[in-house]
Amino acid sequence: MQFKDIIGQTVIANQLTEIIDSGRVSHAQLFLGPTSAGSLALAVAYSQYLNCSHRLHFDNHPDGLRADSCGQCPSCKKHQELQYTDMHLFFPTSSSPMVSKNPSASQYQGAFREFLQEHSQIGTLDDWYHHYGAENKQGQLRDEDANDMVRILNMKPYEDGYKVAILWMAEKMNITFANKILKELEEPQPRTLIILVAEDSSKMLSTIISRTQLVKIGHVAKSGEIRYGDVVVRKADRDNYTQQYVAWMRQLFKLNMLSLSTWVDEMAKLYRDQQKAFLLFAQEATRECFLLNNTGVPMTIDFGDAKFNNSFPAMITERNIEGLCSAFDKALFAIERNAHAKITLMELSFRISKCLKKR
Ligand SMILES: [Zn+2]
Repeated sequence: MQFKDIIGQTVIANQLTEIIDSGRVSHAQLFLGPTSAGSLALAVAYSQYLNCSHRLHFDNHPDGLRADSCGQCPSCKKHQELQYTDMHLFFPTSSSPMVSKNPSASQYQGAFREFLQEHSQIGTLDDWYHHYGAENKQGQLRDEDANDMVRILNMKPYEDGYKVAILWMAEKMNITFANKILKELEEPQPRTLIILVAEDSSKMLSTIISRTQLVKIGHVAKSGEIRYGDVVVRKADRDNYTQQYVAWMRQLFKLNMLSLSTWVDEMAKLYRDQQKAFLLFAQEATRECFLLNNTGVPMTIDFGDAKFNNSFPAMITERNIEGLCSAFDKALFAIERNAHAKITLMELSFRISKCLKKR
């Protein structure tokens, strides 16, 4: 998979090739975004570029790409057939009487590669279950898969380049899997890269997320627009959200009831989609603070307030991030189901305020 074959992800592709060219490859990364938007395809293209022996750089690429793999060298050819020996794929499987009672990703490597080729690497989890005939759709990344992964990552590489493990739908890893790979995420072998590809980070353990570098992949919005859930937000509106977030968090920290209830009244007047978009933004801002504080990943959101920029992220830690994310999830769920907006927003505010004290 070359970056040029992934539609609409030029910005991310350019960030990724730049990271590789500058030698700042982080050994554990989280590609977060829908498979249909190309999150898995980008992970494969990333491995291909990383291992390409004749990387191409462009001044005037028609799609605006700054660089891409050559598509011709032996490593590229193997990647394109999904046969690169040091690229290892892990994915959810489910037990099915007709297929296997004790499934694991290793049994379905051929079927999975066939599925990826057939669906141009943008097939969904349901497409995958359908492809290999799983009747039970509660697939997981299992204990056996984690054992395989640890064993493979600790073996010598076959090729000269990087050894890459790609875990598709990483939110489907069970707890045992997560615990077994923690060490690999923390103390990786040299020239080893683990890419977790996930669609929903709220279903992942914060101990896993905090050990990865986040690469956020969205559905393609037009220039000057950003997507939150189903809502497309103009750049100017996002700046407005940023100011609202800063003011809200300050009220919550001091628990200033008077200004908080004014804020809730104003917010409750908005349409539900607008409330939802703001809360998705706020959840993302909070998660970015955590990642900055915990792993040093720079934020994409600028609060436009030096004092807040310097002091607030430190308040989001391993001790409160899960509580904060679940508070946002609960409020979003309630808003989607037409719950009373003022009560939902007030409850959310109290829960956040409580979490902020738990840092
Ligand atoms: Zn190449």
